[in-house]
Parts: sequence; C-alpha cells; structure tokens
Amino acid sequence: MSAIDDLATELSKLPGIGRKTALRLTYYLLKQRPEQSRRLADALTTLAERVRPCARCFNLSEDELCAVCRDPRRDPSVICAVEEASDIGAIERTGEYRGLYHVLGGRLSPLDGVAPEDLTIDALTERARREEVREVILATNPSLEGEATALYVQRQLASYPLSITRIARGLPVGGDLEYADGVTIAQALTARRAM
Ligand SMILES: [Zn+2]
Repeated sequence: MSAIDDLATELSKLPGIGRKTALRLTYYLLKQRPEQSRRLADALTTLAERVRPCARCFNLSEDELCAVCRDPRRDPSVICAVEEASDIGAIERTGEYRGLYHVLGGRLSPLDGVAPEDLTIDALTERARREEVREVILATNPSLEGEATALYVQRQLASYPLSITRIARGLPVGGDLEYADGVTIAQALTARRAM
C-alpha cells in the first residue's frame, strides 16, 4: 500500500502531526470524493508555485511586492523586523501597527548552524541605507536566541541615523509572537524601548 504510506509519511512531517494522525487523515481522504483530494493537491501545488518572498521585506507574497509594501497608507519610515513571515499576521491582527516589515527568516542559532549570513540582515541594513527609515523595531521572539538576534541586528544598524527599538517584555519569555494574543502584542509594541 505505498500510496497510502507515501501520503501518511508526507503528512507526518507537518508540525503537530504524528504518524497516527497522518494515517487517520489519509484514510479520511480515501473516504471522500476524489475531487476533494484533487482540490487539496491543486491548492498545495498553487501554494508552492505562486507564493514567494517579497522583494523588499521578504514577507510572503504572490507578487513582486507584498500587500503591506504595496499599501500607500503604510508609513515607510518605520520597519518592524520579525523572525518569520507568520509573525506579521500576528502583528497585523492587532490593527495598531502602520509601518512596514522586514522578515529576517529565522533567528541566530549557533547550535542549529544558523549564522548571520543565513538571515536577511544584510538586506535590512541595505534598506536602512537606501530607504528613508526613521525607526527599526526589533520584534524577534523573547527567547535567548531571539534576544541574541535583536542584539546582533542592533549592532549592524548602530552606525545609521535611525532609532532602534525593542518590543517590550510583556510577552511570555520563550513564547512565540505568532501565538501571543493581540492585546499583548499591541502592548509590547507600544511599550517598546530604545536599544
Ligand atoms: Zn513586502
């Protein structure tokens, strides 16, 4: 039964899905009409083909520039640097932030072999140089690695004439921005402090 095994193996690679759940989902799909599985397959293919990083901020986008970068009502003089594109959704849901973003693509982690050149830090300093940036808000997660990443980015930006702020510590330490509630994120943003 390799078709069943193949799908179950792929599904079990997803976060939060063990082998048992993967098999349950596979058998569920087998009981549905074939169109259902085809729509799922199409959606996955389209996702992989169309979604790419925004040329400016590395947010996920189906166009050259993402929806935030294209929005003329956003304040381009403020850039909020986050670890992952999924963090942007969490901040956008608060409805409190009107600036632009920069997705770093992860956090520095010597143990996992993630070095500065693996992140988009150079692209951020390039933006600081070319765009008229007044403030960079470092909104990496409040974990050890997130703090180390914020500190590293701060040093890279130190020679530019802009203020560098760090979101407040209202967030649970070690917690992910992505899972924090809107009020907590909004407070952490409002109470940001200079680095
Ligand atoms: Zn963008």
